[in-house]
Amino acid sequence: MHLARFPRVFLAHLPTPLEKLDRLSRELGGPEIWIKRDDCTGLSTGGNKTRKLEFLMAEAQAMGADTVMTQGATQSNHARQTAAFAAKLGMGCHILLEDRTGSNDANYNGNGNVLLDHLHGATTSKRAGGLDMQAEMDKVAEKLRAEGRKVYVIPGGGSNATGALGYVNCAFELVSQANDRGLVIDHIVTATGSAGTQAGLVTGLKAINANIPLIGIGVRAPKDKQEENVYKLALLTGEKLGCPGVVERADVVADSNYVGAGYGIPREDTLEAIRMFAQLEGILLDPVYSGKGAAGLIDYCRKGKFKKGERIVFLHTGGSAALFGYDAIFAHDQTTLSV
Ligand SMILES: *Cc1c(COP(=O)(O)O)cnc(C)c1O
Repeated sequence: MHLARFPRVFLAHLPTPLEKLDRLSRELGGPEIWIKRDDCTGLSTGGNKTRKLEFLMAEAQAMGADTVMTQGATQSNHARQTAAFAAKLGMGCHILLEDRTGSNDANYNGNGNVLLDHLHGATTSKRAGGLDMQAEMDKVAEKLRAEGRKVYVIPGGGSNATGALGYVNCAFELVSQANDRGLVIDHIVTATGSAGTQAGLVTGLKAINANIPLIGIGVRAPKDKQEENVYKLALLTGEKLGCPGVVERADVVADSNYVGAGYGIPREDTLEAIRMFAQLEGILLDPVYSGKGAAGLIDYCRKGKFKKGERIVFLHTGGSAALFGYDAIFAHDQTTLSV
């Protein structure tokens, strides 16, 4: 397969760095932990949606769109990155924000990603939690079209076969970086939500026969549902790439044991992971995605599921802008000295 055949807007800062986490590895006393810095992809503090949007926004341009629409939770990173991309390309952007957490916190509802959505010039409207958000988008898109706008609708998380191409590319990039430094990767771990990241990665890894197991740490759906979502999208991605059937059902592994009470609600181990990365490595995670993904990584190391001497790559998918919508949960972290 040859990714250059697909339209793409080259805006991401690539390749993202692949770095060793010495202090975290020492602290956990087991495997060697590496990090793939997709929190550094560029576009309004970066994150995993940038890679997907390179392909999605190129498709929007090719279709003559002047406006893009998408949807996400209130503190959606995908919404913020879409708003930034639209600004860069001179397109309008409207976002539907779903209230998935029921939080009344002023910063949750107005700071962090929400502040940045508007700063980039996007308009937003709110929806109650639990609606069919794709149907909600289609309704709004019809209204905007009736006003004469040419609207391109991006699914939540940018997760369709076009968006997943960004993570096929990431798989190639990561394996190539590891090859260049003689790094044998035993496992890749990442957070998984709307499924495009894991689907693209597993398709790319299988397409080049890398033979590296990938595990997605779920942030919302139960394991079976999450695996099914990833598998379905991986099938479509393989077809789009010209290697249909390259991903088998058994290649798709998700673990939803770190979700806790629900999407966007951090658990104690989520917060511990965020503090560990911040204080051992100077790296910012987030309470919705990467903090839960890292909680899974840390637990696997402590339980010996990842063994001493193995090399683990944690794909950091970004999300730190959401920290400013969740400041209340870190209120007790402030240590002051009266000196
Ligand atoms: C969207 C997102 C994810 C999940 O990626 P999917 O492709 O939706 O599975 C993980 N981390 C962060 C920070 C995200 O914004």
